[in-house]
Amino acid sequence: MDVAGITVGEKKLRCIILSAVADAPAKCLLMNTVQFNGRYGCPVCYNEGQVAQVSERGHSRVYPFEDSSLRTHEEMRNIGTAVEQSFIDPQPDSGVKGLSVFMKLAHFDIVRAHTIDYMHCVVLGVMRMLLNLWFDSLYSKKEWSVRSSLSRINEALENMKVPSCITRKPRSLDTIVHWKAFEYKNFMLYFSVPLLYGILPKLYFNHYILLVEGIFVLLGSSISQLNLKRAKRILAEFSIQVGELYGERFMTFNVLLHLSDKVKDLGPLWCHNCFFYEDYNGDLRKLFHGTKQVELQIVLAVSSQLKANSIPSRLQVGTEEHVFAKHLTRKSHLTRRRLQISSSMFPVGVLKQFVPEDHIKQAIEAEEGIMVQYNTFYRILLGNRLISSEVYERTQKQLSYAVLLKNGVYALVLCTVYKLDRYVLLRSNQITGIVSQQHFRRRNFVPSHM
Ligand SMILES: [Zn+2]
Repeated sequence: MDVAGITVGEKKLRCIILSAVADAPAKCLLMNTVQFNGRYGCPVCYNEGQVAQVSERGHSRVYPFEDSSLRTHEEMRNIGTAVEQSFIDPQPDSGVKGLSVFMKLAHFDIVRAHTIDYMHCVVLGVMRMLLNLWFDSLYSKKEWSVRSSLSRINEALENMKVPSCITRKPRSLDTIVHWKAFEYKNFMLYFSVPLLYGILPKLYFNHYILLVEGIFVLLGSSISQLNLKRAKRILAEFSIQVGELYGERFMTFNVLLHLSDKVKDLGPLWCHNCFFYEDYNGDLRKLFHGTKQVELQIVLAVSSQLKANSIPSRLQVGTEEHVFAKHLTRKSHLTRRRLQISSSMFPVGVLKQFVPEDHIKQAIEAEEGIMVQYNTFYRILLGNRLISSEVYERTQKQLSYAVLLKNGVYALVLCTVYKLDRYVLLRSNQITGIVSQQHFRRRNFVPSHM
């Protein structure tokens, strides 16, 4: 495909693979290297690692901080070739077991094109390890243990209201064995810092926020060179201090040192990780029943879905078949936009007439001039972000009515009164602000790509 290409019309298309996403065990197979916890297990550098005792009988490979030289595609190919040519008992050399088919791909750098998946490495790796250290009874005598605050944290998690962009309500740490990767991620990025502030000993808290900050920076929609360097520095600091604070045996995450370089090569962490596949696993699971001919069932279900959208256009309008087919292919309510206020803002739900109290009417008209009619609505879709009002969500378990305005002010939207592209934010019948669309920050709290 990268040389011959395919011809579409008058155009010739060539495809090249730019990057490969895999968890650590799969990456070892793709790169034909030793397991990630073996000697020279790092896929990026030549850190040999050391064996540390983790229990009376157990041992594990750890990676004390070391400024090891970085692997290159050429070296990997040369080592792989040498290993394969040694006829007597070929042994891995510097972690390389032999050649990989990926080495034959043009434009594909076996080292730089392989991502470090932050879902497995950071979210299910470092974050899970830290939660275990902080809350497991095994470490309750250690100075970092906050097990005694477990019920307080659980209560806070269970009572927390989150915006609609966080699709799952936080669950207590008692259910941690059932937590999915995105629950660890949400905990790390959004809940953990305010929850652990004042609970985790200061030394450990200051150390932990290095991780959160570093990952937050690397998840940005655009990252400056300066921030990239800063993330590299603080993640290195975090990795080094793991040994000093928790003990050398927990220094198993040397790849954190390479995350920033991966972002430099492949883009922010959100565009190359296994979260996509985790979501697809759920989608795929819905496409088959039982265990027989799973792949055939999936293909049939996907092709049926693709065909379904074209069925209504082939049926006579007004017939029962047409109504039924339309119903089956109906889009969700969020995409049925009735009224467009501006290029990217739509009210969701019914627009109601609103009769403001006199003092509000006077205040609005002092700003906006005489208004013939006031309309109000409780939810707006801003880009792909749903912002609700406090009134609407009183009975809901979410909180999507806190917004961050461009001037840095946080506002709570009780209900919005709409006039052209201006909104009056009300709370307890007091005006909290009159804003127009450009005052809303696009990235309210949770950027959609995270
Ligand atoms: Zn390394």
